[in-house]
Amino acid sequence: MIPYGKQDINQADIDAVLEVLQSDFLTQGPKVPAFEAKVAGHVGAKYALAVNSATSALHIACLALGLGEGDWLWTTPITFVASANCGLYCGAKVDFVDIDRQTYNLCPNALEAKLEQAEREDRLPKVLVAVHLCGQSCDMEAIHKLSQKYGFRIIEDAAHAIGGMYKGEFIGNGRYSDITVFSFHPVKIVTTAEGGMALTNSDELANRMNLLRSHGVTRDQSLMTHEPDGPWYYQQVDLGYNYRMTELQAALGVSQMARLDAFVTRRHELAARYDQLLADLPVVTPWQHSDSYSGLHLYVIRLRLDKISQSHRQVFEALREQGIGVNLHYIPVHTQPYYQAMGFAADDFPEAMAYYREAISLPMFQGLTDEQQDTVLASLKKALAP
Ligand SMILES: *Cc1c(COP(=O)(O)O)cnc(C)c1O
Repeated sequence: MIPYGKQDINQADIDAVLEVLQSDFLTQGPKVPAFEAKVAGHVGAKYALAVNSATSALHIACLALGLGEGDWLWTTPITFVASANCGLYCGAKVDFVDIDRQTYNLCPNALEAKLEQAEREDRLPKVLVAVHLCGQSCDMEAIHKLSQKYGFRIIEDAAHAIGGMYKGEFIGNGRYSDITVFSFHPVKIVTTAEGGMALTNSDELANRMNLLRSHGVTRDQSLMTHEPDGPWYYQQVDLGYNYRMTELQAALGVSQMARLDAFVTRRHELAARYDQLLADLPVVTPWQHSDSYSGLHLYVIRLRLDKISQSHRQVFEALREQGIGVNLHYIPVHTQPYYQAMGFAADDFPEAMAYYREAISLPMFQGLTDEQQDTVLASLKKALAP
C-alpha cells in the first residue's frame, strides 16, 4: 500500500533520539527548549511552547485567550475534529463558517456575513480557529481585519502548514494572529511521533500557556503570591495539565527541522508533477492563491462527477483495491454524531458538503518516489474509467 502520508526518518534522527536515551534527561531537559528555539527562529515568532500534541496546544491556546463558558469558538467544518473540540474542552460553544470554493479554507466573505448576523444576535465569537488546509494559508489579512472590527481573537491551526508561507513570510510568525499551532504527528510535514507547538509573540500568552502545559505550577518567583518558603518551593497558580513534550521527541524534532526546507521543496516537486500528470483527467487539482506558498501536507483532488460514470465512493474503493492508500480530509465536523447532537444540519454549510462529496487525498509525502507517483496516476486512470 502506498500511504497518503508517511514520516521520513534518517540515521541522524535515530542517532539524536539514541543520544537522549543515554543522557541524564528523558524529560524536562535541554532538548525541548532547543526545539522551541529552532522552530521559533525558523518561522520568526518570539515564543514557542512544545507540548505533547497539537490538540493540547489548541486547548491551552484557547484557555490562554480566556475562552470559557458562554463564549463561542468558530472554525471551518473541513478540518480534523481537534480544531473544534478545543472549544468544547473549555466549556465554550462551537459554530462553523463555510469554506471557500477554490481554497477549501474558511471563506472570509462567509465569515463577514456570519459576523454581521452574530452581532445583531449578540453572539459574536471570542476565538476563531483558522485552519490552513493542506498547508495553504487562509486569507489572514481579511480575517485579521474582521477580528479588529468584531473583537475576536485568532488561533492559526497550522497543523498542515509548517514551512509554508503567506505573503512572503513564514506561517507561524504571528503577524495576523494571537497564537499559531503546529502538529508533529507522523503524517504531518515534520514529526516527533506525537507532538505539537504553540507559537506567539505575546509575553502574557506565552506565560499562561507555559503554566497550563505543566500543572499550572511555577518556580518563577515573579509569578508567585509570596516569597518562596525555601529553595524547594514551587507554587500552583492556575489549573494546568501535563501536556509536556519529552526530550526524545524534542531531539527528533530538532533533527527533523534540519530537513524542513528539503521536505517542503520535495512536496512542491511532487505537487507540480501531479498537476501536470492530472491535467487531462476529469479531476480538479488544488488551486493555489498567489499569496500562498503551501506547506503541502496534503494533495487533495476533487472528482468531476459530471464527467465520469463512477461514483466518488467507487473511485475511492478502486484506488484502495489497487494499493493506493487514499484518504478523505475531512468528514465535515458538523456532520459528526457528537456535533449533530448540538443541532447542526448537514446542509448548514453547503460548500463543505459539496467538497466532501468529491474530495480525495492522494499520496503526498517527502519519501514518495516518481515511480510510486506514476503508479498512483495509473491507478487513478483505471479507477476513473474502468
Ligand atoms: C492533525 C491535526 C490536528 C491535531 O494534531 P495532533 O498533533 O494529532 O493532536 C489538529 N488540527 C488539524 C487541522 C490537524 O490536521
